[in-house]
Amino acid sequence: MNDVQKLFGSLVFNETVMKDRLPTATYKAYKQAIIEGKPLNIEIANIIANAMKDWALEHGCTHFTHWFQPMTGITAEKHESFISPTAEGRVIMDFSGKELIQGEPDASSFPSGGLRATFEARGYTAWDPTSYAFIKDNCLCIPTAFCSYTGEVLDKKTPLLRSMNAVSKAACKILKLFGINTVRVNSTVGPEQEYFLVDKKMWEKRKDLVYCGRTLFGAKSPRGQELEDHYFGIIKQRVLAFMKDLDEELWKLGVLAKTEHNEVAPAQHELAPIFSSTNVASDHNQLMMEFMKRVALRHGLVCLLHEKPFDGVNGSGKHNNWSLATEEGKNLLDPGKEPYKNLRFLTFLAAILKAVDEYQDLLRVSVASAGNDHRLGANEAPPAIVSVFLGTELTAVLEAIAADKVYTGNPAEFMKISDDTIPALVKDNTDRNRTSPFAFTGNKFEFRMLGSMFSISGPNIVLNTIVAEELDEFAEKLADAPDLEAAVYDLVKETYLAHKRIVFNGNGYTDEWVAEAAKRGLLNLKSTPEAIPYLGSEKNVALFAKHHIFTEAEVKSRVEILLENYSTTISIEAATALDMFHKDILPAVGAYTEDLTRAVLDKKAAGISAGFEAELASKLSALSAEMYAASLKLDADLKAAAEIECSKKKATFFHDAVVADMEALRAAVDAAEALTGGKYLPYPTYGELLFGVNE
Ligand code: ADP
Ligand code: MG
Repeated sequence: MNDVQKLFGSLVFNETVMKDRLPTATYKAYKQAIIEGKPLNIEIANIIANAMKDWALEHGCTHFTHWFQPMTGITAEKHESFISPTAEGRVIMDFSGKELIQGEPDASSFPSGGLRATFEARGYTAWDPTSYAFIKDNCLCIPTAFCSYTGEVLDKKTPLLRSMNAVSKAACKILKLFGINTVRVNSTVGPEQEYFLVDKKMWEKRKDLVYCGRTLFGAKSPRGQELEDHYFGIIKQRVLAFMKDLDEELWKLGVLAKTEHNEVAPAQHELAPIFSSTNVASDHNQLMMEFMKRVALRHGLVCLLHEKPFDGVNGSGKHNNWSLATEEGKNLLDPGKEPYKNLRFLTFLAAILKAVDEYQDLLRVSVASAGNDHRLGANEAPPAIVSVFLGTELTAVLEAIAADKVYTGNPAEFMKISDDTIPALVKDNTDRNRTSPFAFTGNKFEFRMLGSMFSISGPNIVLNTIVAEELDEFAEKLADAPDLEAAVYDLVKETYLAHKRIVFNGNGYTDEWVAEAAKRGLLNLKSTPEAIPYLGSEKNVALFAKHHIFTEAEVKSRVEILLENYSTTISIEAATALDMFHKDILPAVGAYTEDLTRAVLDKKAAGISAGFEAELASKLSALSAEMYAASLKLDADLKAAAEIECSKKKATFFHDAVVADMEALRAAVDAAEALTGGKYLPYPTYGELLFGVNE
């Protein structure tokens, strides 16, 4: 084995370790419980816990934690040591099955959206045996789900697991019709993660980056991404050292970090893992984001995961590549060489089209956030309108079916490239329509609207659930069909005709598409406060309840959490903008204006003409007055926002008034920055931030 092979998974309590350390009967019981989605009994849990503890101690651990994902969108952990007192006043290192299976963090400060009063603040965490335990900072981390004491879901993992079960059950029903018996269908995901790296010393000087993760001010630098030379360009030594270090850390944790490259914007990069089951992909994406931040610090860098750290250059997203595969690993979205004849594929494809059309609103809500509002529809990311790209070949197949014609396209168009791991690709998918929010890319769908900071759980909960819903309906319709083939073609025809408005193969960045989408009746939810309330609609509440993903109370609480989160984010940004304005910007511009004014007076006294100083000083003076007026308005609106009780009205006010005020303030500040002498500026400029890492 080479070093990477030895390194990979070395901090993970994975299959190999389990097979090695668990009695065969225990290992089998564990595997069975996972396949059946059933809880483990306590005897089995005790044996596993003990083996885990021994393994963890050998790797230098002193503590364990239930690692969970509350509604904050990041992970949480509370470390407990393994020590347990003995009668002789010493300690032994102990870890029981009960401690493995269930924990009780004091959870009163996690968002619950009103689900829980503080007096019943206890929550509990429950082991998710489908995601391996791992070691981080000498602590054994056990992936867990998090619920309130009364059973309400308070996290992102529980509903994700439920949605995976829902889609698995529904997909198995369909497969059965086609004579395929499998115990489980897994939804698989490969999330491509974009991020920025900036120099830590510069980052420290920017309160906006420190408090908000994005710049609130900053004049354009003379050079941005115009030359398009950064995309896939040569990676700088310091960044390369960071990437190497990051890969190694992630490999140790069993994360399949695969592709690293430079992105479109200067200082922007991407890391893509090899796909895995959605639940594991989601845990691994959290680890990936956490380690990007940590490892960057070791290299004197700061990793920015915000969706829009810099105005005027591309922001960062996350592409959620999604598919369905049987337990045996068969990809159900592989069209094969002749998709027209592939009834199973056509059934899944039609179900997905119908799902995306009927639940556009849910998909849109699943990617709504204050940060992502800067991207969606801003000509660098897909528009806020959800649509599906199929490519000309697949569209032609569906058109033929809709017209009761036999598809006569050239099967060679579905070309086979390289080996079996790359399936027959639809030819025009090889040149990818990058502007589509939901694109078929050969053997999977790529949901491209996610923001870079997102937990991938939300979007995948929605995807799994809406597809489960349609597959269930299809299974019922096809169940008693005397002629399955004819029934599938009928169903595909009917579905395509009813939902073809969602298919769009053109350029999603154009104004023509916005107009065309409106004509087709597609939703265009431009901002987060506009989108979020759709989550709580009757139709969506019924969907989640039917598939046992969320109760009505849980959906409503999530609406509250999302709205509150939006308002809080904007409120922090506005307060930071005002702070920077008063403490740094106004004094800096004032100092320069004063020096210019003094120069005017001095020169006049000396009998020298002071034309440009006078002009510049009056320009800056006028801009300062403009900034000051904008800051007063921002301050007043921020105070007014705080008074609004209704969370929806509040979020809307933050969007309509406060965000607009911040933009007005920024416009004047950026104009002044461009005219102000470098030594007066209180913080590093865009140029320094974006091009600051030169080694
Ligand atoms: P890109 O050109 O967008 O980088 P890639 O072909 O490299 O596209 O794949 C992007 C991501 O899609 C990777 O993370 C890859 O593992 C993932 N992927 C490939 N096949 C599947 C699948 N069947 N299910 C989910 N994700 C997949
Ligand atoms: Mg991609």
